[in-house]
Amino acid sequence: MNLNTIAELKRPRSAEEITPWRDGYAWLAGGTWLFSEPQLATDTLIDLEGLNWPALTASSAGLEIAATCTIAELYRFTGPPEWRAMPLVRECCDAFLASFKIWNVATVGGNICMSLPAGPMISLSVALEATYTLWPRNAPPRDVRSVDFVTGNHTNILQPGELLRSIHLPVSTLSKQIAFRRASLTKLGRSAALIIGTQCAHGNDLLLTITAATPRPVQLRFKRVPSAEDMRREIDARIPADAYFNDVHGSTVYKRHLTYFFSEQIRAELSQREPGI
Ligand SMILES: Cc1cc2nc3c(=O)[nH]c(=O)nc-3n(C[C@H](O)[C@H](O)[C@H](O)COP(=O)(O)OP(=O)(O)OC[C@H]3O[C@@H](n4cnc5c(N)ncnc54)[C@H](O)[C@@H]3O)c2cc1C
Repeated sequence: MNLNTIAELKRPRSAEEITPWRDGYAWLAGGTWLFSEPQLATDTLIDLEGLNWPALTASSAGLEIAATCTIAELYRFTGPPEWRAMPLVRECCDAFLASFKIWNVATVGGNICMSLPAGPMISLSVALEATYTLWPRNAPPRDVRSVDFVTGNHTNILQPGELLRSIHLPVSTLSKQIAFRRASLTKLGRSAALIIGTQCAHGNDLLLTITAATPRPVQLRFKRVPSAEDMRREIDARIPADAYFNDVHGSTVYKRHLTYFFSEQIRAELSQREPGI
């Protein structure tokens, strides 16, 4: 849609050009959300495209994803065979309620900064224990754990003008075994629950990441795969019955049911796995 409050479009070559920050400014990534509804509080868009960050950088330390990497670029990436968790990338790209038109422009960083419960790039990066690098406007860069970034439905820890620069997936988690479950009320609908389990290649631990069913990601870490009862008790301790996310994509009761159901499937799947396979 046309945004009739926008008076200026800036195209900086470096982020440092944008100081001081003021109310009315907004970073523009793919624009798939920004152009989807009126932005009454915004008069200036600052296009991130001219910063020319390399989309994906693989190294022995893991995978560096620029915030401006598109969903389509991420989907096409194939890592080395020892990165067992790579199928999770495609599962999460497929979890968008979106066509290829959206995939080709929507960015990984834009999805994370939107901080919606059904943000699949949040699910992916939290499950793989990513570190986000943030660029505040007038302070040195800071690194934060992905699990600490989203604070609620459409809220996060970004300060005014602070930029998400990159997402680092460490090689230690890229080599983990994964189990993925997702459901949506409608075909191609927004996720009602997106739950991921990961397990070290030679371990019998379990890291359970619950997203979409809750306003922000909830992560449960078990040194050993727990019993079904212990896991259920832990889920209840972390997510009270009224703390599930209630919206048109599912009631709290439905989302709690999916959380129990999928978590148990993931627990069973990873508890049957032979270490190293
Ligand atoms: C048909 C359709 C389906 C969609 N399906 C989903 C879905 O299933 N799940 C979901 O979560 N969303 C969905 N969306 C919403 C949105 O398109 C996605 O979240 C998308 O990934 C946003 O990325 P973008 O690059 O287009 O962000 P933009 O629209 O450019 O920006 C989104 C917000 O993030 C800020 N921002 C962007 N990049 C940065 C950065 N690097 N640092 C700091 N701030 C930044 C912007 O200022 C803006 O506030 C959908 C949208 C459409 C139109």
